[in-house]
Amino acid sequence: MVNVDALNTLARRLSPGAMITDPDLLQSYRQDWSFDPAAGTPIAVVRASTTADVQETLRFANSHNVPVIPRGAGTSVVGGSTAVDGAITLSLERMKSIRVDVSSRTAIVEPGAITNDVKAVAAREGLYYPPDPSSHEICSIGGNAATNAGGPCCIKYGVTSDYILGMTVVLPDGSVAELGGKRIKDTPGLALTKLFVGSEGTLGVITELTLRLIPQPPTPHTLVAFFPLMADAVAAARDITSSIRPSELEILDNAAIKVAEEFLNMELDTDAGALLIGRSDAGNGAETEMKLMSTLCEKHRATATYATDDPHEGELFIRPRYAVYEAFERKGVVIGDDVAVPIDRLPELTDGIADIAKRYSTTIVSYTHAADELTHPVLNYPIGDVAAAESASAARQEIYQLVSTLGGFAATEYGVGQDKRDRLSNSLDPVVSKLNRTIKNAVDPNNILNPRVLIPSSGSTDGI
Ligand SMILES: Cc1cc2nc3c(=O)[nH]c(=O)nc-3n(C[C@H](O)[C@H](O)[C@H](O)COP(=O)(O)OP(=O)(O)OC[C@H]3O[C@@H](n4cnc5c(N)ncnc54)[C@H](O)[C@@H]3O)c2cc1C
Repeated sequence: MVNVDALNTLARRLSPGAMITDPDLLQSYRQDWSFDPAAGTPIAVVRASTTADVQETLRFANSHNVPVIPRGAGTSVVGGSTAVDGAITLSLERMKSIRVDVSSRTAIVEPGAITNDVKAVAAREGLYYPPDPSSHEICSIGGNAATNAGGPCCIKYGVTSDYILGMTVVLPDGSVAELGGKRIKDTPGLALTKLFVGSEGTLGVITELTLRLIPQPPTPHTLVAFFPLMADAVAAARDITSSIRPSELEILDNAAIKVAEEFLNMELDTDAGALLIGRSDAGNGAETEMKLMSTLCEKHRATATYATDDPHEGELFIRPRYAVYEAFERKGVVIGDDVAVPIDRLPELTDGIADIAKRYSTTIVSYTHAADELTHPVLNYPIGDVAAAESASAARQEIYQLVSTLGGFAATEYGVGQDKRDRLSNSLDPVVSKLNRTIKNAVDPNNILNPRVLIPSSGSTDGI
């Protein structure tokens, strides 16, 4: 354990007020949105204001063998930014600047900027930053880069990695790597920018990003359709994605419809087996795409379809998709998981999840990004209820087993973090697993950066 004098020496090298060691303040940096009751307590939190602060911290940590947990906004639901006893938590929350360069259609952003603010600043210049994790109002752009975050619009626009042209990243020894640049062809040598995207703070700490922006798309038209069975919604979604590229295509199961209706009271059909939400931002082509989606939904037995080109009504139409999370948040701890099964097996998945929920006397809602076969089962339990937390954990294990029998896998849209690392290790091809470890060892030989996250365990003490 590093001593107080050494920490004080580090504090003096940092921007004023950067280091926190007050035990009360440290508490708020222990957990992320995975709310791990076993989260550790950092020996210190460094709230960096500059790249130099990050360099000083990593140099110190590397020479004293102290693990460092990089932290953006702490919205990881897989323990990516959960604190570790004896480690320094390195928060990027103070580095928030956002500059848009209209001529090159890029944004230069610091990692602590909130994703929604990046979108808003770009929009003021008539430009668009597409990636839309559902947490976009509360997560940071650095966290998005570190987890390669994505959301509903990835069906048409892709994920975070598709918009990162360059970055400044501080390596574990404190040296600074400038990767990529403003142009899409600024890529000499190995594709190192891509290597750091999605590396979950295990290889370096991102202190600046150069983002690609695109012209603002037209306001989307929105369609909702209710189906008697999940299988009908799946058939409609398959036909839709074979014909066009909507800007969003989501399917909610019956449990999700019920929870959304209870929360929103907007006369949703709570007997429906599934609710499909589709959007098109194709400008002049949007009306045609809406008509096609409508026809295909009716072909597959939709009991009711509604379409609108009114932006306010459109926002109302997509509310159920987000309401399930908000409704659960009011009740306590929310666990948003992510799994993937072949789309044809989605009805078996949602039926199986409903059965698991019944056996555990709980509610589990599911919504699916229809184009990429990714489903989020969402659970919740009252804060501090240990028995309910254990029960939720057991239900999750059953969901994973079900997913495996359906030919799917525990997906990682929300990242791997601490929670899914062992699961990932077991499923990785041994050669790929070794390659991951080899790269980690080469970049971070002392294993100080987020040692319990993402990278298959070295079998040692993970740096702690
Ligand atoms: C309600 C809710 C909805 C969500 N919906 C989605 C969704 O739709 N799609 C999705 O992809 N995710 C989603 N998430 C998960 C989470 O929001 C994302 O993973 C997000 O990208 C994390 O950003 P953050 O700033 O909170 O990062 P943190 O939680 O602080 O950190 C996440 C990981 O990134 C690393 N990290 C953070 N900043 C840096 C940096 N500057 N340099 C290096 N490493 C860094 C951390 O060490 C950690 O491993 C959701 C979470 C919640 C709570």
